[in-house]
Amino acid sequence: KFLVFEGIDGSGKTTQLKLLGDKLSARGCPVLYTREPGGTRIGETVRELLLNPQHSELVPVAEALLYAAARAQHVAQVILPALQEGKIVLCDRFLDSSLAYQGFGRGLDVGQLEKLNETATAGLKPDLVLLLDFLCDTGMERITGSGRGADRIEQEDRVFHRKVRAGYLTLAGRDPDRYRVIDANRTIEQVHHDIIGVVEEILG
Ligand code: ATP
Ligand code: C5P
Ligand code: MG
Repeated sequence: KFLVFEGIDGSGKTTQLKLLGDKLSARGCPVLYTREPGGTRIGETVRELLLNPQHSELVPVAEALLYAAARAQHVAQVILPALQEGKIVLCDRFLDSSLAYQGFGRGLDVGQLEKLNETATAGLKPDLVLLLDFLCDTGMERITGSGRGADRIEQEDRVFHRKVRAGYLTLAGRDPDRYRVIDANRTIEQVHHDIIGVVEEILG
């Protein structure tokens, strides 16, 4: 099974992915953790290029192609082989990040991005997308509070992050079978509890 965590910056994806993975591993399920952009040696190099705050000249189309390139490598080298081995793949961001950030956020055509990514993913779709829906302003507070510096995209303004959040909700509304919207404006434990409920429903 292929499970993806999505949501704006600071919504709790990495925290919740780890908690779910620990729970599944404790039950004896074979789990693979991975993330985008990244997940492979090539993907991590592309990630550095994308997130470098000095790369302010990067144009949206080039940005979208770089995310798609990293994703193609990730799917072929890591995700598909793990799924073939029967693992539960837990992925921190996937295709919907491209649609939400480069599409709804930066204004690229969402249909064209879907076509490009259809090629990148060889048609692979997640079995479940957990969308951590979160108020943008709190997300940025969490990031500043965590003490790590903001990356290139986190330096974008609130308006940008609001568009991304709304974009995610639109995507989830189009395909309610595959997406579950989780209210992430609660404690880590409350959010984790909801996620376990959804995953048990899907994985049995
Ligand atoms: P990014 O997109 O930047 O990677 P993320 O969605 O992975 O962010 P996390 O890194 O999991 O988010 O969380 C951001 C910060 O907020 C961390 O310091 C984390 O400990 C804290 N945090 C996560 N979930 C909650 C929560 N429900 N309540 C309060 N703080 C939280
Ligand atoms: O979630 P993570 O912190 O690993 O994401 C890295 C950064 O890349 C975030 O700032 C996120 O907003 C950005 N991103 C993006 N477009 C994507 C995927 C991630 O702008 N398609
Ligand atoms: Mg994270």
